[in-house]
Amino acid sequence: INKIAVLTSGGDAPGMNPCIRAVVRTGIFHGLQVVGVKQGYQGLINNNMYDMNERSVSNILHLGGTILKTARCMEFKEESGLEKAYQNLKNRGIEGLIVIGGDGTFTGAERFSRIYDIPVIGIPGTIDNDLYGSDFTLGFDTATNTVVEALDKIRDTADAHDRLFFIEVMGRDSGCIALRAGVAGGAEAILLPEKETAIDELIENLKSGSNKKTSSIVIVAEGDKNGGAYDIAKKVKEHVPSYDVKVTILGHLQRGGSPSSFDRVLGSRLGYAAVNALLNGETRKMVGLKGNTIQLAELEEAISTHEFKLEPDLLDMVDILAI
Ligand code: ATP
Repeated sequence: INKIAVLTSGGDAPGMNPCIRAVVRTGIFHGLQVVGVKQGYQGLINNNMYDMNERSVSNILHLGGTILKTARCMEFKEESGLEKAYQNLKNRGIEGLIVIGGDGTFTGAERFSRIYDIPVIGIPGTIDNDLYGSDFTLGFDTATNTVVEALDKIRDTADAHDRLFFIEVMGRDSGCIALRAGVAGGAEAILLPEKETAIDELIENLKSGSNKKTSSIVIVAEGDKNGGAYDIAKKVKEHVPSYDVKVTILGHLQRGGSPSSFDRVLGSRLGYAAVNALLNGETRKMVGLKGNTIQLAELEEAISTHEFKLEPDLLDMVDILAI
């Protein structure tokens, strides 16, 4: 194998740049030519790729987003799109592909490499931390830190005015950001897609706290079954008259920012491991972090298994630490 390509796809996540850097430099160290694909699978189909060298990835370790850009590409879900991508890779003599992204990206990669015989290695890059086979995904730590920073600031104003804040964070299917950020920021309650919370129970908890507390913060993950932060705030408001109730939706700011040291190191490790996996003849695998070692998992398992990723002790301690 002499030539490989790397792309980022789906939602961007801080840590993708350190990861691209590691792929490029590890590849070059081993004598490979490395091609950067722009805009994920769209770039494979449109032949939007360029040869990279050691300097193509200078000074990007600290940058959020992805220098390769990313995209959601419907055409890659069709056979004609897959065929075009294959022809472009073949014409360029590319013999291995590294994809950095989430479950959609892996689904596409898995399918592509089964039909066309091009080895593919996936790197988990998504702030949601919702992939099996890696304890952490790239971007999750940075996004959680961003939420904690926002929470600290909101706490100041909440405290000054005796306010109850409902803060909505990203996570349509995964409460990982909500749980970690909630514990780190001392949230009074955390509402998650993985665990049902009865609204009356939440109201009771807030009422019991409202005698002594000057402020309260409730974290709501996007995918919580009670609805979004606005809906929940509406349901709770009349029952807690001592509080001025406010809602903040953190939205896309959670995706941005300079990657944390954790995400920079993780991105570097995963990029390095992905190139080595291709050189070892692996395909349709994901490189991930388990404990403190880098391990390979089947791509198929990474997307089809639904591991419960919330730490049970964190779930248990939320109410206790908020008394
Ligand atoms: P995130 O978790 O951050 O949303 P993701 O990788 O899951 O990232 P998606 O938009 O779901 O993001 O998927 C990225 C791309 O992968 C899609 O735009 C599409 O090009 C490709 N893809 C997704 N599903 C399939 C599929 N079934 N077949 C082929 N390609 C697919």
